[in-house]
Amino acid sequence: MNKHLLDQSSIDILAVDDTRANLRLLTSILTEQGYNVRPVPNGRLALSSVEAKPPDLILLDIDMPEMTGFEVCERLKADERFQDIPVLFISVLSDTTDKVKAFSVGGVDYITKPFQAEEVLARVQTHLALNAMQQYLKKQNVLLQQEVIERQKAEKGLIAMRDQALVSSQLKDEILSRVSHELRTPLSIILGYSDILREGAYGPILKEQDQILAEIMDSSQKLTRIVDELLTQAEFEVNQVRLENTVFDLNVLLSRVEAQMRILAEAKGLAIQTEVDWKDSPVISGDKRWLEHILINLIDNAIKFTKMGGVTIKCSSNGVEFWCVQVKDTGIGISKQDQARIFEPFDQVDGSTTRPYGGMGLGLSIVHGLTKLMGGTIMVESEIGSGSTFRITFPLEASKKCLITEKRT
Ligand code: ADP
Repeated sequence: MNKHLLDQSSIDILAVDDTRANLRLLTSILTEQGYNVRPVPNGRLALSSVEAKPPDLILLDIDMPEMTGFEVCERLKADERFQDIPVLFISVLSDTTDKVKAFSVGGVDYITKPFQAEEVLARVQTHLALNAMQQYLKKQNVLLQQEVIERQKAEKGLIAMRDQALVSSQLKDEILSRVSHELRTPLSIILGYSDILREGAYGPILKEQDQILAEIMDSSQKLTRIVDELLTQAEFEVNQVRLENTVFDLNVLLSRVEAQMRILAEAKGLAIQTEVDWKDSPVISGDKRWLEHILINLIDNAIKFTKMGGVTIKCSSNGVEFWCVQVKDTGIGISKQDQARIFEPFDQVDGSTTRPYGGMGLGLSIVHGLTKLMGGTIMVESEIGSGSTFRITFPLEASKKCLITEKRT
């Protein structure tokens, strides 16, 4: 509320009455209470006094020659600068029509003559307090409106930034996807021709040439994998990875994956073995292609980060609720700190231990995304120097339900 209300000496009241005695009485009642009073004897002087310095409240006699109190009030209320000043009419008239008119021209109250000091003071205090409250609320309202405007502006700015980010993100995905597609074609041509050359389709080749061709093919395959990972990651970013469920025997999938990865493992002198611990036969329903992708990624990492020992792939289920696949290695291990971030895209455990192994830091992020999409969870247990175990658990119920529907159809 207005602070100067607490201090009456800072409140300025204009008292307007053509009867000198009344004006004197009013002035003394109010000045005794500490108010500043400006006594004026007619309407014309009242208007110029307001113009010179707007008061906090006006006590206005109605029945005055030249210009009545009603006219004075109407003029004040028509002026934006003065319309908020509370006007209290004073009159001997007790006619209801006059009282009604007093309010209709903009007065806030009415005091009848002869007036009592207590009544005048009580009404003056009430209207000063009310007006102060109104002014306070008005100011608050203006502040709130400004705040709303500022918030709307900020919101618009945020929306513009979001749209901009969306456009940049779409552009990034578009570039990524196009570049990846454009790389794939020449890569497959390099691979194809190298293979044909190695097989002697254009004449016999020397041992050194064969070795060089093998290196060309190896590098091209690495590049193809990177391109594939980039494409899959881009698909994840725009939620375009789709699952295709079929019913299949996990044993068949495991044998195929093991045969493929055995070449890599044995080239490094590592053992590789698969164990299946399943109550019945391991027939499940799911996306075979993506499941194979997950397994190859985990096993590839296991081989990549292991120097001695081997890799074990274990699938198990007690036939109730879940089935689980784990890939265990005897490799370099991952510290607790790094375990928390290896599933983030483009994250690699920093330092000389991992850099020589290449990769883009996308494999585990894709594995994590695929696992989630399939309703599963992934966790890692690892100790530096002893090895790592990646364990993925999938719900069996979903697989079973799917199996039943597919058998029926
Ligand atoms: P990259 O393709 O670069 O290997 P990944 O997302 O597959 O990327 O793995 C991220 C990082 O996690 C790797 O760079 C490596 O530091 C660590 N990591 C993943 N698997 C293993 C593992 N079996 N043993 C030790 N470190 C691993």
